[in-house]
Amino acid sequence: MATAYYSRPAAANYHSPSSSSHHKERGYRLCDTCGAVETPATGRFRLCGGCMTTQYCSQDCQKSHWASHKAVCQHTSSQLSAAKQHAVSGYSDENVAKYLRKFTSTFTDLLSWAGFQALQLKRCPANVRQQALLVELSFQNSSDPMRRFAVKGTYVVPRTYVTDADALVAADIQRREDRCRRAGGIGCLVVIIQCGGVSQVMPVEVDPPSKISWDERDDWSDVLAHFVHSGRPDFKPVSTTPRGIYYG
Ligand SMILES: [Zn+2]
Ligand SMILES: [Zn+2]
Repeated sequence: MATAYYSRPAAANYHSPSSSSHHKERGYRLCDTCGAVETPATGRFRLCGGCMTTQYCSQDCQKSHWASHKAVCQHTSSQLSAAKQHAVSGYSDENVAKYLRKFTSTFTDLLSWAGFQALQLKRCPANVRQQALLVELSFQNSSDPMRRFAVKGTYVVPRTYVTDADALVAADIQRREDRCRRAGGIGCLVVIIQCGGVSQVMPVEVDPPSKISWDERDDWSDVLAHFVHSGRPDFKPVSTTPRGIYYG
């Protein structure tokens, strides 16, 4: 069975274009309990030390989440350590898993945006519950840490590709979906990043349609491949709003 684990959750288009440079460097971070967004005023969110994946605005939120998070937390860390046991064609999955995590956090904005475009969520928000974006990568063995992977292919797959394969991850996606929709959002977009036998599931909580300012782009797959190939983490989506065109 392929190793699949949860990667750090993200938020798509959280708030309309902002002049703050804060989120551009780090991506949007959401508290996994209350949904609060990390801003310079909130201070840095804390990561769960078990899975290094979920994040919290406060110790209280971390404590109250533990009972429901425990199972998926242990699952994520066991999947990560399982990756250490395998070796595939000369490089170990442990390193691939480590590099993939780094890749996902570096390219969070780009991957969220690509998933949003691939599923055409501006036009058909309901697709978020049916489909997922699968990004297949190849390992480049480059000495440049920003260019370890290249995009081999992109596929829109049924979301059951993930949810049928892993009940714990399915339950966690459902929890995010419910919370996101209660807050007026579309739901939880699923982006799968896969390289060889290792894959990551990145959940992205997507804003309500009224707040989505990203322009629709049919060339998202080329844009994705280009930024990954060039090792450029500075991707900025184009948004046309009544106040003008924004890059980022
Ligand atoms: Zn919180
Ligand atoms: Zn955890």
